[in-house]
Parts: sequence; structure tokens; C-alpha cells
Amino acid sequence: MIPNHPLDSNAYPAQSDSDGQRPDKPEEACGVFGVYAPGQDVAKLTYFGLYALQHRGQESAGIATFEGNQVHLHKEMGLVSQVFSETILNQLPGDLAVGHTRYSTTGSSRVVNAQPAVVETRLGKLALAHNGNLVNTTQLREELLRRNWDLITTTDSEAIALSIATEINAGKDWLEGAICAFRQCKGAFSLAIGTPDGLMGVRDPNGIRPLVIGSMGTSPERYVLASETCGLDIIGAEYVRDVEPGELVWITQEGLASFFWAEQPKRKLCIFEMIYFARPDSIMHDETLYSYRLRLGRQLAKESPADVDVIIGVPDSGIPAAIGFSQASGIPYAEGLIKNRYVGRTFIQPTQTMRESGIKMKLNPLKDVLTGKRIIIVDDSIVRGTTSRKLVKALRDAGATEVHMRISSPPVTHPCFYGIDTDNQDQLIAATKSVAEIAEQIGVDSLAYLSWDGMLKTTGEDTNSFCSACFTGDYPITVPEQVKRSKLMLEKSATC
Ligand code: SF4
Repeated sequence: MIPNHPLDSNAYPAQSDSDGQRPDKPEEACGVFGVYAPGQDVAKLTYFGLYALQHRGQESAGIATFEGNQVHLHKEMGLVSQVFSETILNQLPGDLAVGHTRYSTTGSSRVVNAQPAVVETRLGKLALAHNGNLVNTTQLREELLRRNWDLITTTDSEAIALSIATEINAGKDWLEGAICAFRQCKGAFSLAIGTPDGLMGVRDPNGIRPLVIGSMGTSPERYVLASETCGLDIIGAEYVRDVEPGELVWITQEGLASFFWAEQPKRKLCIFEMIYFARPDSIMHDETLYSYRLRLGRQLAKESPADVDVIIGVPDSGIPAAIGFSQASGIPYAEGLIKNRYVGRTFIQPTQTMRESGIKMKLNPLKDVLTGKRIIIVDDSIVRGTTSRKLVKALRDAGATEVHMRISSPPVTHPCFYGIDTDNQDQLIAATKSVAEIAEQIGVDSLAYLSWDGMLKTTGEDTNSFCSACFTGDYPITVPEQVKRSKLMLEKSATC
């Protein structure tokens, strides 16, 4: 058996948000980045790419570079800017790199689970960066254990990397081995994989998580892979196209080759990427997500108007929809909440008293804008409702006479199994309460969500080409019962 991958054993505590609580939002899984650019400082390019993708995961970051057959790896817990210094980046030479920034969805938040996952194979090492979540990790892990692999981490990403290594060690080349392994994987996976011979970019047959290709010029051809186009913009790479669902791109000194490896690819992009996760300046379907979110606000104004004096948005993700709402309704938009832009994640836990003041650590109401006004506050989603309640109270304390809330997506009623942390079902407020009950709980004068139809039609795309399972429970990739049971607490108790 070829030796297994290296082990780091430092354990770190899980991070909390700046108010000491988990954010009341779905949390993103990961950002991935890859670059093939002989003659360039690939570590630094990857650093800046990850820096632009920081919103996709703030728990750990890592970069692996390839210098011929040699792999240089650095990964740690923390933000990209905390994990890397100029000195560390200078110790990561090579022509090719992959990078990763992580929020843990599978496997606990420890440095051993940080990525890229580096694995030794018959053809040399591979370094894998994964965004998404598999639903058949247990079976893959059992198969790997049967083949005598030592599993070091608890992640599905390690299982993918070792499955590729298994195929390579059985005599296949990089492409055959990878494709064989991908066909065993079920769930969401957008991958950037470095090898001594080239860089791979891959999306699962449904393309649940995004992955784009950028170009950094020809002679020699230099390519970039990134979860979002904002990862290309920061390094001046030009957007070429998306990696398609069920496609593998293989980038070498000969250029970029494309292989469609899945039998029945069927596009099901996560709609939450468009509503909330991806940066508003990232491009999907030939437009920035800012434009889509603006239209969501306009649609919301048509569906659920209210007679108020001013429209405000919850910074940052609720702002484009609030502006759209204002444009469609003719009611003025104003900034009613100021965000502390210098706040980040922290390991420091606040005291109980500080925690009770909670929301003000991040958002401070503008009294001059709010006093004596009837307002609509627009947000992109409500998950548990804990933040919304505090926010509404803060707006009333600042002088708002009526507070109406409008949400630019439908109620989140089901958990995600494809790489987004939306909590267990019993923690989702809309899974247990009606809209009227939620309105009462968070203390608003009225509450309305965007319709499911409105959300999908506003994309301007084929409405069947999206996953919207967290709003409907209609999962495009079958989720095995034992995986479901861990999150579908309500359904479990209802059937027992
Ligand atoms: S279940 Fe929701 S969050 Fe998960 S992939 Fe589907 S739309 Fe996205």
C-alpha cells in the first residue's frame, strides 16, 4: 500500500460570530481556487483568489503548490489573511496551485480537516479542494477502510481524494482514475485538483455548487478555476465560461481539454447561491447577482406591498432587494442600519451581558432615519429567526413606529444536504410555524416572503435548472435515509 496523507493533530475550538452566537443565516460550505500558470507566483495568485472567496468559508484556509513532483502545503485554522504571510507564501513555489477556504459541513472544525487534502498515489501526490457535500460518504469510507486506507479526517473530501488514489494505484492514469472515482460519488462536488501533470476542475452531474474557468493569457496558456467570478476579477483573469455539470476540465501545458464523464447531467444550481451566498459582484447567467437580487426586490414589492414611509435593507445581503423594492414601489430607500465593517469572526466569547446586546455589535440603527417612520425592512432569508427578533426590537427602540418585514426568498422549511449548513429541521423557524406565527415571534407589524414561483421566474432561466429543496423538500439527488434522519428531526418524530 502506498503511504497515506500527512496528519496534523492540532485541534481548535469551533468559531462563533462576533456576538458569540452562530449567525442566523445559512452558512456557506467552501471556496475553491486553482491556477495553472508556469512562470507566475501561483501561491500569491491563489492567496488573492481565496481572499476574494473568503465569504464562502472562514474557519480554515490552505494552499498546495506543485513544483514538478514536489508538493508544498500550508493550511491552518483562521481567515486567509491570518493563515498566510509573505514569508509563508514565499515557501510555496511552483507552476500550479490549488487553494481552499472552509466552513465545515462534514467533519468537525479542526485543522486536520482543513483543505487541500493531499494524498500520495502511484503517479505522485494529488491535492484536492472541495466545495459541496456528498450524501454517500459512509459507503465510500467503508469501501476505503475495506481497502486498508487509514482515514485521517472525518471529511467527505478525503474520501474523494482516496477514492481517486485507489483507482490510480490500481493502474489507471489521472483522468481514468478520477472519472472512475467521481462515478462512485453521490451529492454535490465542485473540485479543483492539483497533480504533478496538470490541474483538474470538476463539477458533479447536477452542478449544484458553482465553478468557473478564467484565462490569464496565452503562450503559455494560463488558466484559473474559482468558485465565483469575483475570484477571477481580483487577479485580473478573464472569465471564459463555467465548468458544466458533469464536466471535467484538464489543464496542462497543452492547454485545456474537456471531458463529460456523467451519464445524465442535469443542471440543478443551488438557488441560494444566487439569493445570498455568492458575492453580489459575481456573475452567473451573464449578469451580476446584484441585478438578480434587485429584481427579487421588485418582484417582492409587486407581490407584497405595504403603505410605509421608507424602505431599508439588512446589510449587506438584504440591500440589493431593498433597493429593488424601493424602485418598484416608489417608496424612498434609505440606510437604516449601519454595519461595523471591521467585524470578523472571533474565538473570543463575549460575556452574557454583552451577548444580550447581541445584534448591536454588528448593526447599529440610524435614529435620524427611523424616528417617527413606518418602515419596511428587507432581508434575503430567515433561518432561525433569532437575529430578526433582536433587529426588529432595535428598530423600534430607535423610533420606528411600524416595522414591516419582507423576505426576498420563500420560507426555509427543509435542511440542505449538499454543502450548506441550514441547521436541523427543528431549528428552522418556518418548519414549525406559520408566517403569522413567525411575524408574532419576531415582533413585526406584517411579514411576507417572496413566492417560490417569483424567486425562480425572476432568474430568467429554465426554472427546472435549480435546486430549491430547502424551500420544498424536493431533493434533486436522493438523500439516503440515515443521512436524512440526522437532520430531519421533525419528520422522524412524526413517523415514529
Ligand atoms: S437545498 Fe437549498 S441550500 Fe441546499 S443546494 Fe438546494 S437550494 Fe441550495
